[in-house]
Amino acid sequence: MSKLSIQKTLTDLRQQIDEYNYQYYVLDHPSVPDAEYDRLFKSLQALEQQHPELITPDSPTQRVGAAPLPYFNEVQHKQPMLSLENAFSEEELRAFNKRVCERLDILSVSYYCEPKLDGLAINLLYEHGQLVQAATRGDGLLGEDVTQNVRTIATIPLRLRSPYPRLIEIRGEVYMPLQGFNAMNAHAQAYQEKVFANPRNAAAGSLRQLDPKITAKRPLAFFSYGMGEVEGFDVPSTQEELMAQIATWGVRISPLRALAENIEACLAYHQRLLTLRANLEYEIDGVVYKVNRLDWQRQLGFVARAPRFALAHKFPAQEEMTLLESVDFQVGRTGALTPVARLTPVLVGGVTVRNATLHNMDEIHRKDVRIHDTVIIRRAGDVIPEVVSVVLAKRPAHAQVIVLPEKCPVCGAPVLHEEGEATARCSDALLCPAQRAASIKHFASKGGLDIEGLGEKLIEQLIDLKVIKTPADLYHLTGVQLSELPRMGQKSADNILLALAHSKKTTLAKFIYALGIREVGSQTALSLAQHFADLDAIMHADEETLQQVGDIGPIVAQHIAQFFSMPRHQTLIKALLEAGIHWPVPVSSSTQPLSGKTFVLTGTLLQLSREAATERLQALGAKVSGSVSAKTDYVVAGDKAGSKLVKAQTLGVSILDEAAFLQLIRHGS
Ligand code: NAD
Repeated sequence: MSKLSIQKTLTDLRQQIDEYNYQYYVLDHPSVPDAEYDRLFKSLQALEQQHPELITPDSPTQRVGAAPLPYFNEVQHKQPMLSLENAFSEEELRAFNKRVCERLDILSVSYYCEPKLDGLAINLLYEHGQLVQAATRGDGLLGEDVTQNVRTIATIPLRLRSPYPRLIEIRGEVYMPLQGFNAMNAHAQAYQEKVFANPRNAAAGSLRQLDPKITAKRPLAFFSYGMGEVEGFDVPSTQEELMAQIATWGVRISPLRALAENIEACLAYHQRLLTLRANLEYEIDGVVYKVNRLDWQRQLGFVARAPRFALAHKFPAQEEMTLLESVDFQVGRTGALTPVARLTPVLVGGVTVRNATLHNMDEIHRKDVRIHDTVIIRRAGDVIPEVVSVVLAKRPAHAQVIVLPEKCPVCGAPVLHEEGEATARCSDALLCPAQRAASIKHFASKGGLDIEGLGEKLIEQLIDLKVIKTPADLYHLTGVQLSELPRMGQKSADNILLALAHSKKTTLAKFIYALGIREVGSQTALSLAQHFADLDAIMHADEETLQQVGDIGPIVAQHIAQFFSMPRHQTLIKALLEAGIHWPVPVSSSTQPLSGKTFVLTGTLLQLSREAATERLQALGAKVSGSVSAKTDYVVAGDKAGSKLVKAQTLGVSILDEAAFLQLIRHGS
């Protein structure tokens, strides 16, 4: 490379890193993953090392962070706040240790070890035990005055416990615990406010607020990892003792701190924290080693932007960037369509990632993700990799908007995406192969055809073995097929066949419920059965006719009409009837004694169960509701009836005790 082209590469790298620094430190909104930033930074460092004569004082390798924002008061640190040198591998760690030992002219050093919290550095100035000032790191020399904001963080003491030094700068990390971060982002998403990419940015963005009331609402916490200037205090001789001393003043220090006798112990510590990482309640992105003896720390001193006595040993990155090549929609067991990004394979935290979830269409729109975009992928612990954001600067002209398919990719049924719902669904819950297990389970459930002994596991086994595809296939199962299943004895097989035979005698309401029509629960199924009294009539009713049934509105009517209009549903119903499913003609609701009356059951009935009472009421034409309103005709108050009884009294609804209720259902009016 010619000198000119080296100069150009250096300038480009510096410009790019400066831009990323601005986004990260000033805006708290990085556009590329840390791993990408670290790669650029390393290549700049390497090039500068080969050409030290080209190093400029304003190169990012010679500076820390970014200048303070103008709308905060500036604070000049009494001692500079520096960054840390990074190591990404065992070799780099050993090279660091070698340099330390050589400089100190000794064979082995013990290190004080701590997790590297992923938050932002803060300097807390205490005078006579009182917190008088708090400042961000800024560019290392000048920080931002965030005293009022810091006062709102509960884990930062406003007053030190005595005896304390006359003056001390306590240094540490403000961070956002994961639980608080997730809750805050969920809230922000619901109210269409700013969603933070990660807890570090959330912590920085929350602390650097102009209004302390906003900071006060954010779940921030603090751990100290050292000190700056101090007066009126006999500084101990090791980092370990210093930290123990800081703890005595009532300041939090990491419970995961440890002393490593040598570099092998450092490696073991790194490994231990790596395994702990996924279970911690806050994010850490590595561990930090500091030479334990403070006199040796002083002897080693500093380079431009970091101390020579400390090292950040980073964990494998949890975020990487890659190309989004295409998007497929997967259909889950409940019919939910999940968009999945197909990626150019990328190594994230040591694992090759080819697919990542995009969650749902709302998330795609919120993040403005398009096909052919460069995206940031996050893979933390065992969680499914997800697309976090788009690197907009890398968007090509041919980037393509992602559209929700109109038809289910598995069964071809129309896809429903209702307003206000994040999830789009396949509309054929009954026959879509992706939803088979759930639909057959629903069909066989207590409220449906009530097939005793046909549990979820057995249904899944039968589906896996391709013995059943639809509920109608259940009625063609043979004793041989069943008894050949693992862990299924002859007797159990016989019991299931018997239960299947019993289930054929049902009611029209249960049959309709069993079909799993969207938003048709047992009460609506009953209303349909009582209103029409005939399956054929229901199947041929148009939406308008359906809405004549008491509790059926336009949306449910549409679901019902759509359901019965699908030829494959008609075929299935025919097959079920041919298999022998039958029911007595339901009594029309209008001729029933309690027709049009709404009941609410509350408290414990002594003579019969809640289910039996409900069934009895429904058989008499009454509706049973879960909540009391002005439309309720009777509240049946059993033993220990609570708030529903009170509400009924307030609304003046008729109240029946158990005796009166029994009398009513015995006589039917
Ligand atoms: P750093 O975060 O790598 O390390 C120094 C900081 O670590 C300290 O200032 C302190 O705040 C913190 N720390 C946490 N635990 C500590 C402990 N126990 N002891 C001492 N310090 C501890 O350095 P930095 O200069 O703040 O940031 C550089 C890093 O930030 C980069 O490596 C990169 O990962 C990230 N970054 C990313 C972008 C981007 O665009 N994605 C831009 C700039 C920086």
